[in-house]
Amino acid sequence: MSTLAQRDHAVLWHPYTQMQTAPLAVPIISGEGAWLIAEDGTRYLDGISSWWVNLHGHAHPAIAERVSAQLRTLEHVLFAGFTHPTAVELAEQLLELLPRNQSRVFYSDNGSTAVEVALKMVLQYFHNQGQPQRRRFLCFRDSYHGDTFGAMSVSSRGAFTQPFWPLLFEVEFIDVPVPGREAEVLAQLDAALQHPEVAGFIFEPLLLGTAGMVAYSAEVLDAMVRRCHQRGVLCIADEVMTGFGRTGPLFASSQLQEQPDIMCFSKGLTGGTLAMGLTTCAAPLYEAFLSDDKMKALFHGHSYTANPVACAAALASLELTRAEACTQQRQRIAAAHAAFKQELEDQPGIRAVRHVGTVLAVEYDPGEGTSYFSRLRDAFYQLAFDNHVILRPLGNVVYLLPPYCTTDAELALLYQVLRQMRELVLNFTPAPTLPEYLHD
Ligand SMILES: *Cc1c(COP(=O)(O)O)cnc(C)c1O
Repeated sequence: MSTLAQRDHAVLWHPYTQMQTAPLAVPIISGEGAWLIAEDGTRYLDGISSWWVNLHGHAHPAIAERVSAQLRTLEHVLFAGFTHPTAVELAEQLLELLPRNQSRVFYSDNGSTAVEVALKMVLQYFHNQGQPQRRRFLCFRDSYHGDTFGAMSVSSRGAFTQPFWPLLFEVEFIDVPVPGREAEVLAQLDAALQHPEVAGFIFEPLLLGTAGMVAYSAEVLDAMVRRCHQRGVLCIADEVMTGFGRTGPLFASSQLQEQPDIMCFSKGLTGGTLAMGLTTCAAPLYEAFLSDDKMKALFHGHSYTANPVACAAALASLELTRAEACTQQRQRIAAAHAAFKQELEDQPGIRAVRHVGTVLAVEYDPGEGTSYFSRLRDAFYQLAFDNHVILRPLGNVVYLLPPYCTTDAELALLYQVLRQMRELVLNFTPAPTLPEYLHD
């Protein structure tokens, strides 16, 4: 008789996991609020909303109710030639909340596909207009937009995508305009915009997640989008992580004066219940696909496009997100983060503390440079886990991205772990590293 974890190990292949050395996966059998409950009864506080997807807590009754009713009414219908009430209602509600220029909703399956659709919209927009030579994208050097090939191409050329580098299409990278570097980056942008082939600029608005929760201002992003628009370059706001209240307001782009031409959503879209992505765009983009010529249509689609059950989950989650109670939860978390930032920053062992809305990131100072694969990262992970807290450090950056239902007492537990990590850093002596050829 083997345990669930052993059976898993015999047949499964986990994402972002070195299967040879990773410990057995932790079997989770239920969830409640910000907690995940393991097979052996241990409760773990989900400090990162299960990879940034959960908004209102696990197994939320209101979402479960709506999903279950939808399942008994209509589970799925193909979305070419047919439609259904939840897809229409969700699109109507979202367009009401998004920046006013957004006028169309295109459904897909996840964040990566939402990005693929956005890239294809830009490329075919210019193709349909007889400017196929405009096909170059600008993106941030440290960006992350997903794991499919187009999304990888517009993402940082990091270690994770190295085996695929030769097959990724070329893009123009510019630095992130972090505080103090704005003018320099605007100059980089101006230089990049000289190339007549530039078609689009894709960015994570205000907060780059995978880069280590790197923040930059709405003012500089406004300036960048304005410069792109002056050159006819289309701007894609990838709100897959920042959408639905993460940065405080419903969308990070709500803080901009300039409006993006295209927006991408997933993660929090269904409150963390079901996989779904969507791409929205402004009217001129959509209109460039209208023609008597069938070949000018957008030939992109997935079998489960606009799945009614996922749309129902999204509607239920959106209702919770729009409620005054949720705004208050987000404000409470943001205020607690701000106070904790004050406590921690400038202390020994801390390089920087960043705080945007419900997201808090602590960059520890391990002395010399460390990478994602460092022992420190694993030590951080283990320390959190031993405290029954789930965090996934990005190298020496540890961030909190809790569900909005996380209580003050639960936040206090998360902060306590971050304090212990500082102690750990201060006492941390890295093992002497072997030269590369001596490994294994
Ligand atoms: C997670 C993420 C994606 C990819 O979404 P998946 O659903 O994992 O494919 C894209 N963009 C951003 C900003 C993300 O954080």
